[in-house]
Amino acid sequence: MFDELTDLYQQVILDHSRAPRNFHALPGANRTAQGHNPLCGDNVTLYLLTDGDLIRDLSFQGSGCAISKASASLLTETLKGRTIPEARTLFDHVRAMVTTGLTQPNLGKLAVFAGVHKFPARVKCAILPWHALIAALDGQVQPVTTEKDDT
Ligand code: ZN
Repeated sequence: MFDELTDLYQQVILDHSRAPRNFHALPGANRTAQGHNPLCGDNVTLYLLTDGDLIRDLSFQGSGCAISKASASLLTETLKGRTIPEARTLFDHVRAMVTTGLTQPNLGKLAVFAGVHKFPARVKCAILPWHALIAALDGQVQPVTTEKDDT
């Protein structure tokens, strides 16, 4: 699929999948959630340390394809120091982007995943860490799976 993406986007995704940022457990995390994408075999565990509405720190662990790993890596890099309302807005914009290809100015580097909308099977890989994020923010205990809805 990488042939279809621009070189720049390909480089960012490969870089983050090979050397994921914040790829470790987070001691002192007060919110955590797991996500599973059975279609591809991606697993992600997201850890957050929040203080009121502020996301002080976050990290992830897991295994999966380049898209899911790069998406989780960029998620953690993007959301550190942001607020929970900002994170929820970004989730909406990321979900719209990976399903339609339409980007918003606030997406920044996350726009590298815009090309994913052309590959329906990979949309779930890209959105998986974001579903885990929302589950963590909502205090959901059950692991989220991409099986239960179409994004
Ligand atoms: Zn995947």
